[in-house]
Amino acid sequence: MSAKIISGTEVAKAIREELKAEVAELVGKGVTPGLVTILVGEDPASQSYVAAKNRTAKELGIYSEQITLPADTLEADLLQLVEKCNKDPKINGILVQLPLPKHIDEAKVLYAIDPDKDVDGFHPVNVGKMVLGEQCFLPCTPHGILELLKRSGVETSGAEVVVVGRSNIVGKPIANLMLQKREAGNATVTLCHTRTKDIAAHTRRADIIIAAVGVPKMITADMVKDGVVIIDVGVNRIGKSESGKAILAGDVDFEAVKEKASFITPVPGGVGPMTITMLMKNTVQAARQTL
Ligand code: NAP
Repeated sequence: MSAKIISGTEVAKAIREELKAEVAELVGKGVTPGLVTILVGEDPASQSYVAAKNRTAKELGIYSEQITLPADTLEADLLQLVEKCNKDPKINGILVQLPLPKHIDEAKVLYAIDPDKDVDGFHPVNVGKMVLGEQCFLPCTPHGILELLKRSGVETSGAEVVVVGRSNIVGKPIANLMLQKREAGNATVTLCHTRTKDIAAHTRRADIIIAAVGVPKMITADMVKDGVVIIDVGVNRIGKSESGKAILAGDVDFEAVKEKASFITPVPGGVGPMTITMLMKNTVQAARQTL
């Protein structure tokens, strides 16, 4: 068996078309969704993520502002800027690009964002609501994974889901979302990490594996059962092509595992394109909430 490839690129494209229509509808009602991205410093990866976010926003008709601050910006000045954006009626969503320079307390900055404009879904108010199953901004990558599963017709109810990786931005929230009593939920979830004794023993009985570890090709074919559904979140740079472009690998040994899986996401082109798309979805939701 060779797995069906879940194309995040295609699913993201479909959602962006839906969002374009939604933005046009909101504009017709006098509300143009607005997003501000705040970047501190000159980290090239962060610069390219922020540029992609602004480009996508513009493509969808979302008003977008990019604010770039020098790496030595004081924490107090950044907090002041966040406060200004909290009060700006043109802005529905605020995104502070992480990581921040070491001298700035990340939590302090994220907690300063108005929860109603927290389109990354990292504010404790939104995290708490997510855990309680209430309406809130869901963190973008886990939200994208739910959409990939839903739109691929993967049954999650009663499924054994094994998540590998317990970060606050991917592992913990996706584990939580998949046990919620609703669509793309109702799963029995196991969360593995570096202290898990025998990861393969868990992954081998999984119906769905979500890998978010940051270790290239860690999930190998002997660690999965036939028919497993694989969501590979990992983005690992494993070299450079002759033209100098980064060669990427996921956390799953794609070539070998795809021969056993029923569905699998590729890297690149799987979870990646969904993350920015769900940021746009949250921004549109934030604008709708002001109607
Ligand atoms: P992270 O914060 O570094 O967390 C990694 C998690 O994996 C930790 O919980 C760690 O366990 C666990 N882990 C690491 N090595 C392990 C091992 N050998 N065995 C078992 N568990 C192990 O990473 P993250 O931010 O969640 O990101 C994970 C990957 O997803 C990265 O490749 C990242 O680039 C990618 N990512 C992609 C997107 C996207 O949009 N496609 C978005 C976010 C992240 P401990 O907690 O025990 O240390």
